[in-house]
Amino acid sequence: MAEEQRRSQSPVDPKKGMNFYWIYALIATILIGMFLFNSGSDGKATDYYKFKQYAEKGFIEKLEYDGVKAIIYLNKTGKDSLATLLPPQGFQGFSKSADLWFNIPPGEDYIKEINSYGESKGFTVAYLPPNEAAQSLIYWIIAIGIMIVAWVFIMRRVGGGGGPGGQIFNIGKSKAQLFEKGKGTQITFNDVAGLEGAKQEVQEIVDFLKHPKKYTELGAKIPKGALLVGPPGTGKTMLAKAVAGEAQVPFFSLSGSDFVEMFVGVGASRVRDLFRQAKEKAPAIIFIDEIDAIGRARSKSVNFGSNDERENTLNQLLTEMDGFGTNSGIIILAATNRADILDNALLRAGRFDRQIYVDMPDLNERVEIFKVHLKNVKKDDTVDVDFLARQTPGFSGADIANICNEAALIAARKNKATVGREDFLDAVDRIIGGLEKKNKIITQEEKATIAYHESGHAIVSWLLEHASPLVKVTIVPRGRSLGAAWYLPEERQITTTEQILDEMCAALGGRAAEEVAFGKISTGALSDLEKVTKQAYAMVSVYGLNKKLGNISYYDSRGENQFTKPYSEETARVIDEEVGKIIEKAYEKAKDLLTKNKEKLDTLAQKLLDREVIFKDDLVEVLGDRPWSERSPEIKVSAS
Ligand code: ADP
Ligand code: ZN
Repeated sequence: MAEEQRRSQSPVDPKKGMNFYWIYALIATILIGMFLFNSGSDGKATDYYKFKQYAEKGFIEKLEYDGVKAIIYLNKTGKDSLATLLPPQGFQGFSKSADLWFNIPPGEDYIKEINSYGESKGFTVAYLPPNEAAQSLIYWIIAIGIMIVAWVFIMRRVGGGGGPGGQIFNIGKSKAQLFEKGKGTQITFNDVAGLEGAKQEVQEIVDFLKHPKKYTELGAKIPKGALLVGPPGTGKTMLAKAVAGEAQVPFFSLSGSDFVEMFVGVGASRVRDLFRQAKEKAPAIIFIDEIDAIGRARSKSVNFGSNDERENTLNQLLTEMDGFGTNSGIIILAATNRADILDNALLRAGRFDRQIYVDMPDLNERVEIFKVHLKNVKKDDTVDVDFLARQTPGFSGADIANICNEAALIAARKNKATVGREDFLDAVDRIIGGLEKKNKIITQEEKATIAYHESGHAIVSWLLEHASPLVKVTIVPRGRSLGAAWYLPEERQITTTEQILDEMCAALGGRAAEEVAFGKISTGALSDLEKVTKQAYAMVSVYGLNKKLGNISYYDSRGENQFTKPYSEETARVIDEEVGKIIEKAYEKAKDLLTKNKEKLDTLAQKLLDREVIFKDDLVEVLGDRPWSERSPEIKVSAS
């Protein structure tokens, strides 16, 4: 209901189509033209013989000529008598300018005749030097020139980069990239590794496009759209392209932000244009990446025009989706990583009524993705795909593609003929932590602090049952961090209180080690503290893991209430108190563990100072085997 109202309020009339900017432009040009015409106008055209008649009848007050052209100013009688001839506004509007003009026939005689008429009929005849006329011509040219320059400038900005002047005709056109069969590289399901569930769901869409009759004959309605939901780089675009590739239909690809432009109405007209193009090529697939750029929930409150353009665009998209029949052969796929912020109208039946989840790849899927991307990499036999997959938990498909490419670049930089295991590990490190900064200036004292800090993380996590054990510790600065510890976390879906507490304790192990070793703490623990604080607040106010507050969650999955806290001042105080207690307890525990193992801490820190990088084996050497069995062989990194 509210939606319908909005749609009719929309200032953009869909029927006017994409060209109504041109109507604005035309009106502006005409107005400016009229203004110039008015002020410089010489009135209505006439000819020499009429002039003679007017002169005979005594209609003329004044005449100016420049040798080629003469302009006539009529007197009161003249105006009154010629009122039928000249439009009424001609007399009012042209008060400053001439009423009539004519071309003087060539030859001196005519000018003489004009002058004699002036004398006999008592009107002034003035000679206007040609250079003045020429000057006014120059003014004209300059004025028109400025207008053209300004116009092109505005259009360039509106048209958004690329293309010469032709761009100005394309503001309202959709920017969709079109991939057609037989042109460019075709992506099929074989190129998309993992994502079995998602592939199965989109397989159905391929079938709709290929054999629509099979469904419509049974009375089934073919869905119009599906929403691919998942974090960036997980292969949503790839999947959509693969659908087009498998179904052998054209694929229109664009991003939600391509619709957005500074002029009102551009987005809506681009949507119309996109659908028009797609209909011409149907059956076809339209893919809108980052649909949240236009599909975000429309605000309920009255706003002051700031979001009108986006809402118009969204309304147009909804209209188009409603407008085409279920068997017109267009299927819209859209991608987002925030399905929860999309407008409900978009998710309603008959629009994006299917949601397909595309998750971060798990261990097995990463193996598959590595296999796809290693196909074209010349690797030696030290490269073990399973090992690589285990080194890359939390990596998206795009990250993995990036690692494969980076590894090849690293090998090439070393002038190697093949890419080896080391190159891949370097690539992983580089992608996680940024470039190594071997020549960052660090004093000996700072280095010792970092070594103890990282050793603290290592020892505490090694000694706690539920903390993720370490596999690698380094004090080589990388990216923005001064040292790093590589963990082996489990890939788990739920986390217990014990696990969170142990992880917090391990995260505080860095600072605790500084205190145990030097009796003073540093700013180097900032990111640890940030992580721990967030975890503690989440425990108390989100996951309901705190005894005092009980099973309460103040989490708001719709993110609607950003400015007011959903709890009282008193509760806020309790939350802060409990968070403080949790962190304090974890810190004391870490300090306690490290004090008891002070010798081991010293040994490990010394090792780190000597070698800069130490591995799991060194930890076993110093600390002995962990008393509990190792779980999942996944690795995660936590920058210091
Ligand atoms: P999204 O649209 O989800 O942000 P893309 O589809 O653009 O991600 O993926 C970016 C790149 O990552 C792809 O071009 C591809 O090289 C790689 N990639 C992502 N997921 C996969 C996958 N499942 N299999 C193979 N390659 C993948
Ligand atoms: Zn740290």
